[in-house]
Amino acid sequence: MVDCCSAPGLIPFEQAMERMLTAIKPITESEFIPLTSALNRVLASKVSSPLNVPPHNNSAMDGYAFKLASLEKQNTLTLVGKSMAGAPFQGVCNLGECIRIMTGAKLPNCCDTVEMQENCQTNEDNVTFLEERKFNDNIRFSGEDIAINQQVFDQGKKLSAIDIGVLASLGVPQVEVFRKITVAVLATGDELKSPGEKLNEGDIFESNSHALTAMLGKLNVNVINFGIIADDEQAIRAAFQQADQEADVVISSGGVSVGDADYTKLVLEQLGEIGFWKIAMKPGKPFAFGKLANSYFFGLPGNPVSALVTAHQLAVPALLKLQSAQPKNKQLLKIKTATPLNKRPGRMDFQRAVLSTNEQGEMVVTSTGSQGSGILTSMSNANCYIVLASNQGKVAANEIVDVQLFDEVIQ
Ligand code: AMP
Ligand code: MG
Repeated sequence: MVDCCSAPGLIPFEQAMERMLTAIKPITESEFIPLTSALNRVLASKVSSPLNVPPHNNSAMDGYAFKLASLEKQNTLTLVGKSMAGAPFQGVCNLGECIRIMTGAKLPNCCDTVEMQENCQTNEDNVTFLEERKFNDNIRFSGEDIAINQQVFDQGKKLSAIDIGVLASLGVPQVEVFRKITVAVLATGDELKSPGEKLNEGDIFESNSHALTAMLGKLNVNVINFGIIADDEQAIRAAFQQADQEADVVISSGGVSVGDADYTKLVLEQLGEIGFWKIAMKPGKPFAFGKLANSYFFGLPGNPVSALVTAHQLAVPALLKLQSAQPKNKQLLKIKTATPLNKRPGRMDFQRAVLSTNEQGEMVVTSTGSQGSGILTSMSNANCYIVLASNQGKVAANEIVDVQLFDEVIQ
């Protein structure tokens, strides 16, 4: 399936992405869930509106409703009733008459225009209209947001907070969504300790699985955390086999670079079809992708920035595809760089940077400084990537560069 392992040299980022997305078959199983737990879930069927939204013509103002023809010969009308939100006017409003109406209250069929109360003078049952009005002023029309039978969302829509509001406005109590996928997360390395443990000489705290688990939370997947696995063939095999049994996707970090990749690579080749790719991207050159017996596998580099950039740039689109979600298009903005940028041709760079407004009110992008793949603060201080094409060399200050804003998955 993955024919990349033996490819000499580096493969372009776009090619790696395309091969990976081609290999992933989206899940098809779906379930009905209440709207209250549908945030970030993916719709398994399209949604069309069962009603007009709003369902009736209503007033956009607190004021008075009438037939505009009533104001042709006079500017004082007789008040004959009221329409409140949830308690519509039940009578008839004839020419020369008006009713009190509140914002959101149903507009009776006998009225066609609303005047706001600030432009009216009231005297007992008489209302005097001080300003000229136009036909249909201050009316919100039935169906002006969504018309009955109109398709509102397509299959594959990942539901945002606003989308949940739209579905509620349709009166939809539950939605059909694709089942949640389960992702197993593992960190490999003898030097790794969990936060809270004691560090021995040469140890470091393990951060990749923590950041990754938090990112996966934004995708609303089930996460099984396998913790830290020693650099040991038996331990790695046992962990990968168990993870493969329990999850749709297994994501490990560490051990994919040349030096200590041996056990990971050996075990993965025994268990499935895995490609060890050298991707022409920076950070994150080494990356593994393929299939175990039951699951897809992503092997991220160990360096924290490399792990998170490859997870964000490569694994997230792959997980979205597996979730049957519509692909996100990554928008690039053309922005002036405030600082010169170091770059050697040969790899596509995802430099971490801050997009801001300078004193002249122009948008500029500023590098977060040292771009070493172990310097995680270069990423936590950033709000965007500067994306530099593979063949690009150094960039001078004030040149225009491509900027990709961080999305909700890593913020
Ligand atoms: P490796 O890819 O295993 O050779 O690791 C490359 C670098 O990343 C080494 O300095 C490791 O100590 C570090 N590293 C590997 N895994 C993690 C992790 N889960 N959290 C933090 N640093 C890590
Ligand atoms: Mg390691």
